[in-house]
Amino acid sequence: MLSNWIQQAKNMVVFTGAGMSTESGLPDFRSSNNGLWRKKDPNKIASTEALNNNVDEFIEFYRERVLKVKEFGPHKGHDILADWEKKGKIQSIITQNVDGFHQQAGSKRVAELHGSLQKLRCQSCGKEYDSEEYINKEYHCSCGGILRPNIVLFGEMLPQDAFQFAQEEAVKSDLFIVLGSSLSVTPANQFPLIAKEHGAKLVIVNQEKTEMDRYADQVIPNKKIGELLRELDMELFS
Ligand code: NAD
Repeated sequence: MLSNWIQQAKNMVVFTGAGMSTESGLPDFRSSNNGLWRKKDPNKIASTEALNNNVDEFIEFYRERVLKVKEFGPHKGHDILADWEKKGKIQSIITQNVDGFHQQAGSKRVAELHGSLQKLRCQSCGKEYDSEEYINKEYHCSCGGILRPNIVLFGEMLPQDAFQFAQEEAVKSDLFIVLGSSLSVTPANQFPLIAKEHGAKLVIVNQEKTEMDRYADQVIPNKKIGELLRELDMELFS
């Protein structure tokens, strides 16, 4: 069924979450076995509150995550999505991921709703740095301000340009496929519903149940994203 829908789609949009990158080696947030939030409380660490009041722990947590993002990279599933974009099959990717793997794989039309761990910025003057600085244990800007990951923390707004791009893409889409998200973070989790309300078929590929399964035209549980994409790619393009 899904491969027929992909074949027929004129405006396919893919929405990815942390589950897209677990097969690269990065843990997600909420998986019952290995999610990051099983070990840390997000409100304490990934928040403006922690950046302002608990900066040492904040930096230690993000330095570890930056190390992982630099150590790992895109897997075959990311490559397939980039290839489908080149072939005109995918219009765009909306991602909650902060690893930058879609762009590394070659995807161009990507809305990074939560920013990127590949970059840092100065909390005081806004100057951007590569996140290598964290690896080298450089935590201050030349102006003296604290360097922070260029991501959206709990309590912050999403970047306006990514949000608007995602909104337009969701409205236009006729097939909207969620890959590896618990769909529990607002407002990102509204995009599948926006697509659905504007007539798209909604497909959710996620190992565990999501809060939006009841709105989906097809739910594919218990299937690894990389494996599913390889199968679809064989069926559609070989
Ligand atoms: P989440 O952790 O809430 O949910 C991920 C889901 O993916 C889980 O329900 C899990 O069952 C499923 N999953 C894991 N591996 C899978 C696989 N191989 N195949 C199919 N399903 C799989 O993640 P989310 O919904 O993206 O949560 C949002 C937050 O997580 C975002 O704010 C994002 O910035 C952050 N995050 C990003 C990364 C990353 O950039 N790689 C990593 C961890 C967390």
